Amino acid sequence: MYDIIIIGAGPAGLTAAIYARRAGKTVLLIEKETFGGQITLSPHVENYPFARPMSGNELSEILVDQVMNLGAEVEVDTVTAVSEEADRTFTVKTEYGSFHAKAIIIATGLKHRRLGVPGEDKFIGRGISFCAVCDGAFYKDKTVAVVGGGNTAVQDAIYLSKLAKTVYLVHRRSEFRAEKRVVEGLSACPNVELVLDSVPVECRGENALTDLIVRNKLNGMERDLEVDGVFVAIGQEPNNVAFAELVDLDPSGFIIADESCRTKHPAVFVAGDCRTKAVRQLVTAGADGGVAAIAACEYIDSDQAKAV
Ligand SMILES: Cc1cc2nc3c(=O)[nH]c(=O)nc-3n(C[C@H](O)[C@H](O)[C@H](O)COP(=O)(O)OP(=O)(O)OC[C@H]3O[C@@H](n4cnc5c(N)ncnc54)[C@H](O)[C@@H]3O)c2cc1C
Repeated sequence: MYDIIIIGAGPAGLTAAIYARRAGKTVLLIEKETFGGQITLSPHVENYPFARPMSGNELSEILVDQVMNLGAEVEVDTVTAVSEEADRTFTVKTEYGSFHAKAIIIATGLKHRRLGVPGEDKFIGRGISFCAVCDGAFYKDKTVAVVGGGNTAVQDAIYLSKLAKTVYLVHRRSEFRAEKRVVEGLSACPNVELVLDSVPVECRGENALTDLIVRNKLNGMERDLEVDGVFVAIGQEPNNVAFAELVDLDPSGFIIADESCRTKHPAVFVAGDCRTKAVRQLVTAGADGGVAAIAACEYIDSDQAKAV
């Protein structure tokens, strides 16, 4: 029986493990893919305080070392279900086994929807980005395209217009899904060119991305946008279905919790990109990890858990 099982070893889960171990709790961290999470896709991270610019892989290695040195246990496995037992402990089922804990921290992050066009995989981190706030500064005075038609895409285009020379906003329809007041913000951005009714069909380049080929859906014509970067903003996919009976999910599938990282269940906490929040970044994921771990430790030390 562990004090805390943390599901997901991205920056949120790893930080939660640091706080829980330093509070003397036993911790099992279960990760299905890559220790470090999404940030391992980034070749260059410049906005993480106290760290010199480095790759996401390097940053993750430092964080994983810190967690291992503090004595957290780890499993590489996929959590498929979490159920509460009669004694108020939890059974965490994975593809290959099951584990038990007094409290759970869910830190499963999210995946960004991909364009699904040739060349995309090759240029992720070398011209293709999923985060304007993270990578916008690398495109000062350059030409970029944003793909998408919702609030995030339009807000990204507006944000990037203050840094880049030219921003193409590529959207598959003639009208944006984004809120009207957000779309109105585009009128103050003369360097944003709308490329409507158009879908990306290929990302091209040698060592770095140089061209985004788009096709007009109305006339079938292809256009070559010469770009230094493409920001993909066509949606995010949290994967919290396995926890839907324990916690509340919002309509997009994010776990409902406030800044305290507490869910509706007193022994289940949530940290990082998988929860409802405005800003999904390393610093907010790490902050959540600390907050969730402190809350979980408080729960374990409380009379509520002692009754177990
Ligand atoms: C290309 C890219 C570049 C970025 N650059 C920056 C940047 O420069 N600066 C910045 O601040 N932010 C950046 N971000 C955003 C940042 O990486 C995320 O905000 C941060 O990683 C969120 O951390 P997290 O721990 O909440 O989730 P994640 O990093 O998504 O980690 C969640 C982990 O949970 C695991 N998991 C999911 N489901 C299960 C399951 N059922 N069982 C077991 N494990 C599971 C996943 O495999 C994953 O490893 C970038 C993101 C991307 C994609």
